[in-house]
Amino acid sequence: MSSIVWFRRDLRVADNPTLQAACLSCGDIAFVYVHAPEEEAPWAPGAASRWWLHHSLAALDAELAKRGQRLLILRGASAPVLAALAKDIGARDIHAGTLMEPAIRCRDEVVRQHLAEQGIALHLHAPNLLSDPEAVRTAKGEPYRVFTPFWRQVRSKLMPDAPGPVPQLPNPPGVSVQRDALDALRLLPRVAWDFGFDADWTPGEAGAHRALSDFMDDVSRYAEARNRPDQAGTSRLSPHLHFGEITPRQIAWAMRGRGQFDPGEAFLRELGWREFCHHLLWHFPYTTDAPMDARFADYPWQQPPDPALLAAWQQGRTGIPMVDAGMRELWHTGWMHNRVRMIVASLLTKNLRIHWLHGARWFWDTLVDADLANNTAGWQWTAGSGADAAPYFRIFNPVLQGQRFDPRGDYVRRWIPELSKVPAPSIHSPWTLSVAEQRDFGIDDTPYARPLIDLAQTRNRALEGLAEMRNARPHDARANSQPG
Ligand code: FAD
Repeated sequence: MSSIVWFRRDLRVADNPTLQAACLSCGDIAFVYVHAPEEEAPWAPGAASRWWLHHSLAALDAELAKRGQRLLILRGASAPVLAALAKDIGARDIHAGTLMEPAIRCRDEVVRQHLAEQGIALHLHAPNLLSDPEAVRTAKGEPYRVFTPFWRQVRSKLMPDAPGPVPQLPNPPGVSVQRDALDALRLLPRVAWDFGFDADWTPGEAGAHRALSDFMDDVSRYAEARNRPDQAGTSRLSPHLHFGEITPRQIAWAMRGRGQFDPGEAFLRELGWREFCHHLLWHFPYTTDAPMDARFADYPWQQPPDPALLAAWQQGRTGIPMVDAGMRELWHTGWMHNRVRMIVASLLTKNLRIHWLHGARWFWDTLVDADLANNTAGWQWTAGSGADAAPYFRIFNPVLQGQRFDPRGDYVRRWIPELSKVPAPSIHSPWTLSVAEQRDFGIDDTPYARPLIDLAQTRNRALEGLAEMRNARPHDARANSQPG
């Protein structure tokens, strides 16, 4: 009996429970990717993600080709497309990895029912996580809303098994349905804004393992270097993890195998944040678009946002060096350092009082690692409306953050050539230089002499807004946070 492996975001052949389960069935297997982005709306993959997806699908096809198989690319609504393929090859079983996004969960239910009516079973296998979001519960049996006890429970049970090998792949079945070429999906941008991406990234399973291996040489430095955007101190594994090109189990196992489990503890904890974000998305699916803390529905956001301010933030033209450097890094590379993500998100949601969803959507379109669980939690955390969020009065000061985490200004100078002549003591607050100095350093005619906003005034206004909100609805912050 033939079966189908439906690849979605588990684009690898090793340590893949979906592939292993299908291979146990002993028959022929068709490997398929079905392109139906509208089924993921309103969070269909953004432009940078589509770039990654194109290259990752090509890499997966190459991996399968090495083993005598090919990736079938099909377009159209998932349910009828899969049913037609199953009929074509006589398959009764379709295997896929579980995804957590609310729209995809609904879609998968529709697919399951449609297939069941035709006698075909959809088997959803474990998601690409270290923990099962249903199994991790508080003593009262509820989902966690606070990271530390969540991670304590997950970490205490974390003794990863050896990752699964690449199974022996059977022969491809004869397929007569109309297939598409990868290029027909038009995932790559028509206007070439992606020229920086090729230099920075190697999408695909092999690229993921190379990134892990490079990082393993430095993992013992991670605890101190992870907050420094001026240093290459983090793994940059996020897009590989998002697309399932590597598993957290493979990562944890690699650390253990090299005796790095202890030095890597800080790193494992960050993987723990990824677990926590997925736990939240699974149990509180409405948080992709609504605040977890219901009081934030009353926050006096600037509605509609000033388009000039929003565009300046998006394009890295606010005149605040750490913020502009981060936004330009994002545009050029499709990635931004975590510390800088928090700084730019705080400026948007607090100083500019622009709703976090405007920021989340911009990140969604521009990040190669755009991930609904991590992005939602990151924005809600910074805005103060999320689970275990930053205290409402915590407003990142981009000048102090820059002085602390980019002390020589190397990060800022890399992304803002206008500031190349400004010396370190003033690089994070160039507006404090005298007019003559600004002229000498060539910044007198730039936003760095007169930033778009006054950080102190906008901070105070944000605190007033937060006080108004708290007075308007001082009830229990969890009133709206019912599990989904
Ligand atoms: P490392 O420091 O090497 O960490 C290893 C892995 O742990 C990461 O690849 C990631 O999978 C996970 N991780 C690390 N930090 C976090 C975190 N704070 N939350 C959840 N998982 C984490 N991450 C995304 O993958 N996709 C997003 O769309 C995304 N949006 C964000 C938006 C905001 C406003 C903020 C503040 C954070 C966001 N993050 C997101 C989390 C974090 O910034 C990135 O995961 C991290 O910068 C990726 O770089 P890295 O792989 O070098 O991380």
